[in-house]
Amino acid sequence: MQITFLGGAGTVTGSKTLIEVGKEKILLDCGLFQGLKELRLKNWDKLPVKASEISYIILTHAHLDHCGYIPLFVKQGFQGKIICTPPTRDLAEIILKDSGKIQEEDAERANKYGYTKHHPAKPLYTVEDAIFAMNFFETIELHEWVELFPDIKFQFKNAGHILGSAFVELHIQDKTFIFSGDIGRKKPLLLHPKEKIGHADYIVCESTYGDRLHDKTPAIITLWEAINYTILDKGGTLLIPTFAVERAQELIYLLSILKKEKKIPHDLPIYLDSPMGVDATEVFANYPNYHTLSKSEIREMHNTVKLIKDFQTSVDIVNDNRQKIVLAGSGMSTGGRILYYYNKYLGDDKNTILLVGYQAEGTRGRSLKEGDNEIKFFGTYHEVRAEIMEISSLSAHADQHEILDWLKTADKPPKTLFLNHGEPHQSNALRAKIQDALKWEKVIVAKMNEPFYID
Ligand SMILES: [Zn+2]
Repeated sequence: MQITFLGGAGTVTGSKTLIEVGKEKILLDCGLFQGLKELRLKNWDKLPVKASEISYIILTHAHLDHCGYIPLFVKQGFQGKIICTPPTRDLAEIILKDSGKIQEEDAERANKYGYTKHHPAKPLYTVEDAIFAMNFFETIELHEWVELFPDIKFQFKNAGHILGSAFVELHIQDKTFIFSGDIGRKKPLLLHPKEKIGHADYIVCESTYGDRLHDKTPAIITLWEAINYTILDKGGTLLIPTFAVERAQELIYLLSILKKEKKIPHDLPIYLDSPMGVDATEVFANYPNYHTLSKSEIREMHNTVKLIKDFQTSVDIVNDNRQKIVLAGSGMSTGGRILYYYNKYLGDDKNTILLVGYQAEGTRGRSLKEGDNEIKFFGTYHEVRAEIMEISSLSAHADQHEILDWLKTADKPPKTLFLNHGEPHQSNALRAKIQDALKWEKVIVAKMNEPFYID
């Protein structure tokens, strides 16, 4: 058999791991490359395997860098089954439709302004393609074994990364393979902590934060400080560009605690102005077994935040001059409703922008984080006078120590540990650390499109 990393190797996006056993082919995750243009262009490259030859996609979770290629893969002729947990299916539907919409809008813009080599510019896939791809999904619960082929079966175990996320225990004949997907923190805010590895002959582990440790300051403290400073001291408005899935719900949960403890003025309006965020919040409420929130906590969350989907209501809130807290997408300010708020509030130092997640290179969020004094959107440059603050402890990924602790839950050193889903410096730093701390001998940093043979 062989394992080939078709993405998520040497980079943190585009996760696709091909597993071949004789003629049988399985794809683990089917993600989109994101971020810098050079990476995004890879989404147009031909894959070294035919979509029609793959029987199954095992999907670990609904982040776009793990599921975002699926509609395109279906367009290319995939006719097999996509297997994931029920919350992953629901979140993937929200995320893939949104991705289709963004692809369509990007192509439209490229045609309008003529910045394309292809005439006319085409989207990778459309909303309709995304909806069609949902027909191939089948869901199973955690710990439910699925026989894919004779002598090849797998189960999902909780990864504690985002709602519905799982790592994969795959049995091929007498060998056990563990694929981490993305693995979560030691104590996730809203999820059950990840499960142990147990027995494994081979492990594939992500290394996004392989070279780093997360900030230990509790997020609620920084959030409270940002609210106090902006709302009470400066008399301004607090804008939080946020990811719709997980991060938005985490923030609403933290805000609901602050409100309950009377640490936020009771009449201060708080909005989640994000159709996707509102939908994702509903998915949370629908799967009580997949998170740790109680019914009353969910009720408190609903009472804390006004959920906004309708565009006209959003425009009214933007234009309302009263103080408020607004959570809106997108998380890296690459698009979405947050830009309408920037248009009105970015130029005044009374206001604060609170960054709450990873800001990739080349995004407006990164420019804000780095203190640029202007950013471009809606076709012109806008001066940044609002203050920029950051919560850096809210990450959904395990950091270096947390990854090591998770690897220690393996019964014994695996024959080989592959590190994927990391920039080379991240994966290499983790490899050195594992060899030093765990004395595991065979640790390989995955390279794109390079097959590994296992006998
Ligand atoms: Zn993820």
